Formats: sequence, C-alpha cells, structure tokens
Amino acid sequence: MSEDANLTCVKVGQEVVQMVEGPIPEPADGEIIVRTTLTTICGSDLHILDESPLNPAMVPDHMRGLPMGHEAVGVVHRIGAGVRRLAVGQRVISSCFTACGWCTQCLEGQLSACTGGGGLLFGCQSRYYRVPYADISAAPIPDELSDEQVLFATDIMSTGLGAVERGRVGFGDTVAIFGQGPVGLCATAAARARGAGLIIAVEGVPERAAMARRLGASRVVAPGEDTVQTLLQLTDGGGVDVAIEAVGVQVTLDMATRVVRRGGTVSSVGIYGGLAGITLPSGVPSFYHRNVVFTLCPVGHDRLKRLMRLVQHGAFDLMPLITHRMTLAEAPSAYELFRARESGTLKIGLIP
Ligand SMILES: [Zn+2]
Ligand SMILES: [Zn+2]
Repeated sequence: MSEDANLTCVKVGQEVVQMVEGPIPEPADGEIIVRTTLTTICGSDLHILDESPLNPAMVPDHMRGLPMGHEAVGVVHRIGAGVRRLAVGQRVISSCFTACGWCTQCLEGQLSACTGGGGLLFGCQSRYYRVPYADISAAPIPDELSDEQVLFATDIMSTGLGAVERGRVGFGDTVAIFGQGPVGLCATAAARARGAGLIIAVEGVPERAAMARRLGASRVVAPGEDTVQTLLQLTDGGGVDVAIEAVGVQVTLDMATRVVRRGGTVSSVGIYGGLAGITLPSGVPSFYHRNVVFTLCPVGHDRLKRLMRLVQHGAFDLMPLITHRMTLAEAPSAYELFRARESGTLKIGLIP
C-alpha cells in the first residue's frame, strides 16, 4: 500500500473488524491529524464491537463501518485553522474523549461529559487519526518519555486514577478493588500511590492476580461465593473505606456495595455495556449510608500533562501492562487475542 494512504481498523459488523484503506483525513478548524506511532485496544472497544449496533451517523463516507480505537500516541501531521497550542512534528497524545472547552460541563471541569460537540474519539487504530478540539483534547509529550510510557494516559491510567480520586482514598485507607483488568490494575497502582494502607484486589485470573501484587495490592482474593465475607474478615468485620468496581457487571457492583463500611464510598468505573440497567442493594447493608460515585475517564490537555508528569517524576510505571506487541495490520487478530483474555493478555501495543 502507498505511503500516502491511511489504514484503519474498522468495525464492519457485530464482532467483526477489518483493515480498510482510505485517504489521510484533512483537518477541519480546531483539529489536528496525528500520524500514529502506537495504539492499543481497550475493553470499551469490545463493548462497541460486540454490543453496540452500528450507527451510520458515525461512519465516514468512504468506510462501510465504524473506525475503531480511542487510545493512541503519535506525531502531529497537519493542523487545522485556529489550533494554537500544537505544531506539526510535535509528539502528542490525545484523551479518549474530546471536549469543546465552552459548554457548561467543560467549564465545570467535567470535560468527558461535554455537550458542546466533544465525545468519544474514534479511529485511533489507524495510521492517521483526527483529533477534534485539539488544543483542549491533546497534549505534547515530554522528550524523555517513550510512547509506551504515556500510552495509558489516554484512557485507562486516567480512569484508574479517577476511581481512586473520586473514592477519596487517603493515607492508611482500606480499599477493595473488584477486577484486575487494565483499568482495575491502574486503580490498584493509584491506590498505592495515594497512600492506601490495605489494598485488597479481587481477581481470579492468576496472571492478573500476580500483576495486582506487582502494582501494589496487599492481598488478592479470588472472587466466589464467600468474597464479601472474606473482605469483611480482612477488615475486622467493619468493611473497607472504599470499594472500586472495575468490571462492569451487576454482581461485582453488588459486592462492592456490601463490603463498604457505613460512610464509605463505592467508586465505579466499570462500563455496564449490554445491560439495560443496574441496581444497588436496598436491604442490609444498603447504599443509604454509603456514597456511590460513577466516573468516566477524566480528560483534557491539563489532565494529560498531570498524568505524564506522574510518569516522568513520580515513578509511576504502567509499562508492565503491555503484554503483547503486534503491528497495526494485525489488529483483527489482536482483537481475537484480546477478547479471549488468554496468554496473560492485558494490553496489546499496535505499531503502524
Ligand atoms: Zn479505552
Ligand atoms: Zn464541552
């Protein structure tokens, strides 16, 4: 294929992706076009691929499908009119949600809830991808940091840290984290960095349990019938200060609510895709005496800079999460591998 063509991983049907050639996108006002140097697949991509119906409004004209991916690192290839903070040739990362910077939610600092035109980024699993509202949604990468070091600032690192921030984890707190997939592992590392005392990871897959210990978990408990009882025993019957739900299923949200002490916080970052709704227990224990917060990835230029500063100066190392490296052209088989969750798969780096 020619150097001046784009190559994109596209959803062409339920659970099916294909590599599709097309033109390199042109930047509209406020946009940048990024030449991708590293991208990856996210759990959200599987929700989009397997569960969401194809929305024709989101499909570019030349594609018969949905361009996939919202986590990538690259080099600014072209800039649109009005972009002031970024220049051609700069290494950049972009947040998984873009934000307009002007709507009520953006002005309140809730950039991932933007109602002024921002939203989930699509098409990062490409040789070239478009970032709208680039000044707000992308940030230059410090020279000292590698692509792999900063890749997770685009989404899972920010989400995992967000779970801990919104749970208001403090020094010496007891924290339970349900699920040690990529986001749950980021939450475990974040709870450790935030000064939690006892960090209990709930995870049954041996490789993920081992990674949880490596990133800061004090204990790992396999999920089962007696998980709630085990966690209550580990906290002398009182329950944890903060429980983080990072799976996105009803049963773990339920357990998270039951292991939190009165006055404690359930902090959920799971994506409950494919479910019509979720419920909270109202019996004993109930959610009434507990705080319950739900968070989608905190995003934006300033957030990205803070996350990269943490990697650069805070000894915050998530590179062990990259368990596989493949080429962008191999994205369809990478999806198979990622979906199967075998061979210790956590994150797959895709290199164009
Ligand atoms: Zn993601
Ligand atoms: Zn906005």
